[in-house]
Parts: sequence; C-alpha cells; structure tokens
Amino acid sequence: MRTIGLLGGMSWESSAEYYRIINETARDRLGGTHSAKSVMVSVDFHEVEELQAAGDWDGATTLMVEAARRVEAGGADLLVICTNTMHRMADEVGAAIGIPLIHIADATADAVRSAGIGRVGLLGTRYTMEQDFYRGRLESRHGLDVIVPDEPDRSTVHDVIYDELVQGIITVSSRDAYGRVIDRLTAAGANGVILGCTEIELLVTDDLRPVPVFPTTRIHALAAVDAALA
Ligand code: GLU
Repeated sequence: MRTIGLLGGMSWESSAEYYRIINETARDRLGGTHSAKSVMVSVDFHEVEELQAAGDWDGATTLMVEAARRVEAGGADLLVICTNTMHRMADEVGAAIGIPLIHIADATADAVRSAGIGRVGLLGTRYTMEQDFYRGRLESRHGLDVIVPDEPDRSTVHDVIYDELVQGIITVSSRDAYGRVIDRLTAAGANGVILGCTEIELLVTDDLRPVPVFPTTRIHALAAVDAALA
C-alpha cells in the first residue's frame, strides 16, 4: 500500500470526511485491522479564505505549494488536495512536487461519465462555479456539458458554504435551499449534479433528489485509495 498525502484544512470539516472514508475503504478492501497509510498537512482555513476574498491567487498558490511540499516531505507517495476550489492552482502545485496529484475534477468526471451522464449541474464556491479552472476542465478534457446556477442561486450556494458549512453549521433551511437549486438545475436540463465543494455532501444527500448527485469528497477519497492500492 502506498501512502496517501492529504493537503487538508479547507475546511477541516471535509478533511475529517476524507480521513474517515480512506480508512473505512482500506478496511473494507483489505479486511481485518487494515487502515490507510496517510499523512496530512492541514492549513488554517482563515488564511486561505482571506487570500481568496482578496483575489490574491498568487499568495494562495505560494501557500498551497509550500504545504504540498511538506506533504511530500512527510513521506506521501501521492497527493490529494482536499478541496475543489483550491484546485485552481493544481497545475502549479503538481509541478512543484515529485509525486502524482490526483485531480478532483478528473475523478469526478470519470464518475459522471461512468453513470452515462453528459449534461451535469455544478454546485460549489463562486470561484468553482464561475472561473474556468474546474468547469473548463470538465468540458474540455472530459467532454461534459456543464450548467451552473443563475444568480442569485450562485450567491446562496456560495454563502452557505462560507457562512455555515466550513464552520460546521448544518441547517434544514439551507438543505431546502440547495434542494430548490438542484431542482432548477434539473429543470434546466441537468441529468446529474456535481456537489463540487467538499462540504456540500455534509448537507445534501442523494435521497429524494430528482437526478443523481456526485459527492466529490467521497469520489476523490475513493480515487486516492484506488491509487494507493494499485
Ligand atoms: N471545500 C470547499 C471546496 O471544495 C471550499 C473551501 C475552499 O475554498 O477551499 O471548494
């Protein structure tokens, strides 16, 4: 088994899920007392959020590159960045380390394609929904047709992530609000919806949804275990 490197803390609420899923999956696949070999470097999300809000993506890239190098120095054989948004600088991070990076959008696109879906809705932070690094990769590398919510639904989705989910706040009203956004994406033609922020699956489950949802934390964590056991 290879050692999974986790670049976490964005937020720790979802990094804890990565840790739980990789260990449960290693136990299920290998049996007995097996667990996943892993190292995690966990950042202070407040620093990341400030850089994002200031549009200081160069500063954010410096922070991510430095953290990824510490993951590698800690003995990791592969890297997973435990957030969708901070894949904005995945190319720079990947170029700065000597171990493979498992890209969350690639793992997710594989899951969407395997489900036979070509037209998919995307929920995430404003950065993920509006900038090209994520949606463009889904479209150009994987041939998916991606639909994002209109304003003001994008604001609702973004604000719930930063004001609630990354702070461990889960409410029925936000779950209902996300449900309405998913319904509108479905009405707009989406045959599936990517939960493209690693905290959303703490709020939204696939029961009672009109179309399949794709939880990126679970998908990415499973891809990491596949790579570690390959
Ligand atoms: N975890 C979130 C994501 O997957 C948002 C936090 C962040 O900005 O990294 O995009």
